[in-house]
Amino acid sequence: MTTPFALILQALYARTGHAPRGTATQKSAICPAHDDRHPSLSVGVTSTGVVMITCHGGPRCPTEDVMQALGLPMSALWPGSPHTPPSQRHRPDHWMPCGHHRVADYLYRDEQGTILYGVARCDRKGNGCQGFRQWRPDLSKRTGRRWSLYGQDGTMAVRLVPYHLPEVITAVRESRVVMITEGEKDVEALRAHPGITATCNAMGAGKWQPDFARYFHGADISIVADRDQAGRDHAKAIVANLMPVGCPDLSGHGPK
Ligand SMILES: [Zn+2]
Ligand SMILES: [Zn+2]
Repeated sequence: MTTPFALILQALYARTGHAPRGTATQKSAICPAHDDRHPSLSVGVTSTGVVMITCHGGPRCPTEDVMQALGLPMSALWPGSPHTPPSQRHRPDHWMPCGHHRVADYLYRDEQGTILYGVARCDRKGNGCQGFRQWRPDLSKRTGRRWSLYGQDGTMAVRLVPYHLPEVITAVRESRVVMITEGEKDVEALRAHPGITATCNAMGAGKWQPDFARYFHGADISIVADRDQAGRDHAKAIVANLMPVGCPDLSGHGPK
């Protein structure tokens, strides 16, 4: 009987020769993705069986690199993957706070690929539901998620970043156009085309963060505005923010 947690702990031991230590749900291990001298990889498991990996070492290795070093696919982090026997699989978790069915999860990552927060989309947008809810990783929660980006004191508890930040940084470095849309769904539609880089901010119109400009120095930017007042205002705010650092170009889309 091998859970994702047990599988990954075994793989870490096999790869590094160091047995991960800690509690039943939280271990420290040698990171297999960088030259780690003392255990700087934390490996935790939520009560639904999802494994969460964070490298606290110098390079802050992305989870993808750790899994690659272990020779395991990313899907091995989740119960119900082909690596998990059927008896150990959990029911898929589609719950979100509005009570509707979660149909998409958009993950916001830092430069190293670590998940900072997520935006979940439900299947009832427009029928009295705003359709989106934000969450942040939290191992103390049964599902590994806390459905808020705000702390107890009401201040933002996460670092806000442009969607697909690592891809944005690469595209800017390689002088490729970065498209900016109003929402994650449009970003994903654009990214489905090979070679296209697209981004947006979480929480929609009016929530572009002024400090995002630092990721767009010298960038060739194409802003795709939604054709409603909120969309035009949002696009204008982004142009004003990025004009001093990059070369934004504004275009409209959609029959709104
Ligand atoms: Zn590492
Ligand atoms: Zn909903």
